[in-house]
Amino acid sequence: MIQINNYINGEFQPIKDFLEDTNPATGEVIANIPKSGLTEVEKAVNAADEARISWSKLSLEERTDWLDKIADALEYRSDDIASLESLDTGKPITLAKAVDASRSVANFRFFAKFARDFSVENFEMDDAMNHVVLKPVGIAGLITPWNLPLYLLSWKIAPAIVMGNTVVAKPSELTPLTANLLSEVIHEIGLPAGVVNIVHGLGSEAGQAIVENSKVNLISFTGGTITGKMVAATAAPMFKKLSLELGGKNATVVLEDTNLEESIPEIARSGFMNQGQVCLCGSRILVSDKIWDEFVDKFVDYVKSMKVGDPSSPNSDLGALVSLSHRDKVESYIHLAQREGGEILCGGKSPKLPSPFDKGAFLEPTIISGLSHMSRTATEEIFGPVVTLHRFKSDNEAIEMANCTEYGLAGSVWTSDVKRGKELAEQIETGMVWVNTWLHRDLRVPFGGVKNSGVGREGGRWSLSFFSEAVNICVKE
Ligand code: NAD
Repeated sequence: MIQINNYINGEFQPIKDFLEDTNPATGEVIANIPKSGLTEVEKAVNAADEARISWSKLSLEERTDWLDKIADALEYRSDDIASLESLDTGKPITLAKAVDASRSVANFRFFAKFARDFSVENFEMDDAMNHVVLKPVGIAGLITPWNLPLYLLSWKIAPAIVMGNTVVAKPSELTPLTANLLSEVIHEIGLPAGVVNIVHGLGSEAGQAIVENSKVNLISFTGGTITGKMVAATAAPMFKKLSLELGGKNATVVLEDTNLEESIPEIARSGFMNQGQVCLCGSRILVSDKIWDEFVDKFVDYVKSMKVGDPSSPNSDLGALVSLSHRDKVESYIHLAQREGGEILCGGKSPKLPSPFDKGAFLEPTIISGLSHMSRTATEEIFGPVVTLHRFKSDNEAIEMANCTEYGLAGSVWTSDVKRGKELAEQIETGMVWVNTWLHRDLRVPFGGVKNSGVGREGGRWSLSFFSEAVNICVKE
């Protein structure tokens, strides 16, 4: 049993009230985490406030050096990150190694280098010079979800501290283990006390207390759209800087000229990676009428060959969903799809697995056809291993279908005509579209959604600008 404590002001601070953290692949309780509330959040905010001035006075070079030190120390513990992430989330260890562990290290390293190389524009007038100075915003409140725990936490902490802010972070109560590992790493390398404070607990208590705290100047939130609305309702009247990275219901558009042999494995990856629990997953697959039968046969065959099981086995393509209650929610959408007239082409139920995985939150990868593209199953975010298939007759119809939901996070287009793919991509109303690839990430590019998928952009210079206040100093010569 792992005992997790809050990390506040450079110290691990135990509290009396605990929540249990469960391994979703077995149902076993693996850790106790603090059930923090107002008192703990206030302590963390006060620590961040005390550290704020001296941290902001360090040179940019000194702060980037700290990021590199964190990256090195995290890299040294890459195997621990992967195994803890797999244990906590139920995701396959291979994925946790390839994506979660490596990206968490890369986030710190990337922002260290990017901030070093970054320069702000100055604007010359006939008789004066405008100097743009990026100042820290103050205390950053960072709230993150369970699907990519350390990956998303490090994506916020790195740019926040490199720009001179101090941080109070609350990871998801469902997956606290790697945030705790980050606390250990930060402690070991001796990052000045109070620069990064990590408080564990429920969203409605610890999360809400961070958003409500008047000393917290900025909120960067990644999570569901409904929670995002609550966060915005609290933060907006307090004029906090706000970034909201929310839900998605992303379309995958398959044109008739795509190379199916090459694209089907990638389309399956985009539907089912991390058990479909990635905000960018392509869960609505729109297929040209001209290749419908061939695509459906080949796609179903491919997905049927994907293995669900023990997350620690290198042979598992899919592990467990994050919790039994989340699996129930995902299953309820499969039942809804049946009531809406959908046909289940594969999956649709929990696989029969040997002990101890018989108690885990597993679900077979599921493909549903025959639904209206406007049905609830095809327009609401399910966030699980469930995709729906829809056929279109023209590019215009594909675009209309792609844009029919309230979400606008990501999408992908598959075609051998790259020019046509790019033209189509430009008409999809989302923050990101991939052509002939998916989740191919360059950390310099803007990341974020439109419509109900969020407000603001993070990534590269967008992160540096979000985590700073641009101040103009006009000097008359
Ligand atoms: P969630 O909204 O339930 O929780 C996210 C975080 O917010 C957790 O830490 C939670 O404790 C906290 N929280 C809950 N209520 C709160 C409140 N009232 N005030 C402050 N904090 C509160 O989301 P989840 O179930 O953890 O994650 C899944 C969702 O996240 C999906 O909708 C997915 O699409 C979205 N997501 C979006 C992105 C993106 O970049 N757009 C990335 C990953 C996940």
